[in-house]
Amino acid sequence: MVVEFGAARRLGALLRTQFPSLTRLCVVTDGFLHKSGLLDQALADLSAHGWNATVIDDVVADPPEHIVLDATSRAREASAEIVLGLGGGSSMDVAKLIAVLAPQDQQALSEMYGVNKVTVSRLPLVQMPTTAGTGSEVTAVSIVTVGEAKKLGVVAPQLVADLAVLDAELTLGLPVVATAATGIDAMVHAIEAYTSAHLKNPVSDMLAVKALELLWRNLLPACENGQNREAREAMLLGAAFAGQAFANSPVAAVHALAYPIGGIYHVPHGLSNALVLPHVLRFNAEAAAHLYAELADVIVPGMTGSARSKTLTLIERLELMIAATEIPVRLRDVGIERSGLKRMASDAMLQTRLLMNNPRSVTEADALAIYSAAF
Ligand SMILES: [Zn+2]
Repeated sequence: MVVEFGAARRLGALLRTQFPSLTRLCVVTDGFLHKSGLLDQALADLSAHGWNATVIDDVVADPPEHIVLDATSRAREASAEIVLGLGGGSSMDVAKLIAVLAPQDQQALSEMYGVNKVTVSRLPLVQMPTTAGTGSEVTAVSIVTVGEAKKLGVVAPQLVADLAVLDAELTLGLPVVATAATGIDAMVHAIEAYTSAHLKNPVSDMLAVKALELLWRNLLPACENGQNREAREAMLLGAAFAGQAFANSPVAAVHALAYPIGGIYHVPHGLSNALVLPHVLRFNAEAAAHLYAELADVIVPGMTGSARSKTLTLIERLELMIAATEIPVRLRDVGIERSGLKRMASDAMLQTRLLMNNPRSVTEADALAIYSAAF
């Protein structure tokens, strides 16, 4: 991993030393970033160092399958030798799949959904996040929207990048709402990794605690002043640590219940998570009280009291923080109608990959009750 403020401005040189024999690079990003000019210096430095870069800039949030497949065809046409994801989680997720799909025709995307289903190797892959949130730069997960609203994950070790470049300069201009929502998503990664029912281990615990500490202290400062370099660097590092935490110890019901909100209503991933976070934690409170109490100690050091009271403090502090960012806090604030909750609850049940990690088992009736509380 490269952690360096301003790394994007010397991206061509940086990649030249890491991949000396390659020249045809495919940059996967979104149209807004491309047009904003944020990538200009990176692209200029790439060409100055002998890179022949093809920019694929049609990634959209919650990328549907056809976007992945079209992007793959374009990467093939350009004979890409290496893939660079440069953007938010969606761009990095699409980059992962292009790297796996472009060099072969033995395995189709439709055969890759699930855990450890990828059987092929991939092109070299570099990731460079422009938000401090998804942690996709360090995870083995790629999320695709299949059909109208179903979100499926490809989870395979091949999706872990060869190199992640963390340049906080790229996040300085991120608007407040996106800073808040993506930062809360990263916090959810840390919290869910720490309480995951399977695969939780001392390494994921250490990463989750460090992540939560960094994210908790720096989220509001980064929202208040987007140009706060220290806060932005801490957020980017916190998001990467949280990503590594859940790469080891996967996320659970907050994410399972967030996916239908994104899938059906196209609410951004971070905001979807923020909307259900306090309500899922309350649902889990008793089952995970001793773990939540340990996380409460991270955000309010020196606190006394029972595990139960610490858990309630954790939830309360998170709610206050979410309110302070002024992002929407109720499902009805993002255009969801009460009549839609049933379908969301039924769709959430499809996320068995995630629900199995929750510290308390979640039935469809539970999911509906959580959505109703969040409505
Ligand atoms: Zn997430």
